[in-house]
Amino acid sequence: MQDHLGRTIDYIRVSVTDRCNLRCRYCMPEEGVPLLQHDDILRFEEIAAFLSVAAAEGIVHVRLTGGEPLRRPGIVNLVRMLMEIPGLQDVTMTTNGTLLPQFAEDLRTAGLQRINIGLPSLEPATYAALTRLGSLDQALAGVQAALDAGFDPVKLNVVVLRGVNDNLAPYVELTRRWPVAVRFIEYMSIGPLGEDHYLVPAAELRTMLEALAPLEPAGKPAGNGPAREYWRVPGSPGSLAVIAPMTEHFCPECNRLRLVADGHLRMCLFGAEEIDIRPALRPSVDEQALRGLLARAMQEKPVSMPDNVRDYGRAMGSIGG
Ligand code: SAM
Ligand code: SF4
Repeated sequence: MQDHLGRTIDYIRVSVTDRCNLRCRYCMPEEGVPLLQHDDILRFEEIAAFLSVAAAEGIVHVRLTGGEPLRRPGIVNLVRMLMEIPGLQDVTMTTNGTLLPQFAEDLRTAGLQRINIGLPSLEPATYAALTRLGSLDQALAGVQAALDAGFDPVKLNVVVLRGVNDNLAPYVELTRRWPVAVRFIEYMSIGPLGEDHYLVPAAELRTMLEALAPLEPAGKPAGNGPAREYWRVPGSPGSLAVIAPMTEHFCPECNRLRLVADGHLRMCLFGAEEIDIRPALRPSVDEQALRGLLARAMQEKPVSMPDNVRDYGRAMGSIGG
């Protein structure tokens, strides 16, 4: 599928729930977000029907996200259903990892290819403070479970907030021991914290890393991630990267769409415009109408993120990051 600028769109992030067992300060307010009604959330059959059409049109990569995707009952069944769709090359997941000890093995058996885990600190007190409801031990047990189940690569997402979790040294140490790809992500000030002073720009993150250890270029691990370069401490099994959604826009290379749990297609993480696909799914699936909506999405995909990214319509935790 190509959009009106000729960008190839072959990747979709599917948020399967707006619920989460954590309340990360950069993502959700303490009280959570107003929850979607059960009937508003797409059923697995509806997600699969839409993705079958999307795959026939050229989508090859699907990433399940949330909220916390492992909070959606039966999530392993959804992975199994998606694996049967002709044309989909990979189904992957972004999770906070805390429930992986319970699910990692089954997800792997079901065919999930890769896992990204949000791990905003390696210091127990900071992890607990940042996630409000989480424990570092639980999250690390999740990373271990993903590695034990054979996921490769396991990528760790670290949203860096200045003065809060900007000590990168423990992550560099972690890559000396564990085969994980750590990605430091610029804080997007559209989260509930609002203020820009938390943002540590990518250039500064790179300088901080270079000051911590000698780094050499590392190959890019499998996947469609927006990190442009990876580095490693020579001899280490893990690698390090920086993702710069704020200071180095990747709009010209954007290859993605997003589907929100309530059946709205978003053409840009930061743009409030959405296309409701439920009328093409209910009361019964209308494949032609779905193809028409995808064609419309290709026409309406913004050239770049809007200047004012504060008005983006929904909480990050609902869109899926
Ligand atoms: N619950 C899962 C998790 O935490 O990975 C999946 C959903 S979460 C919304 C997806 C990703 O969004 C997180 O891993 C985090 O990296 C990213 N994210 C959330 N809020 C962010 C913010 N304000 N700035 C940058 N990234 C953010
Ligand atoms: Fe939940 Fe993920 Fe948002 Fe944290 S980043 S509150 S784990 S959805």
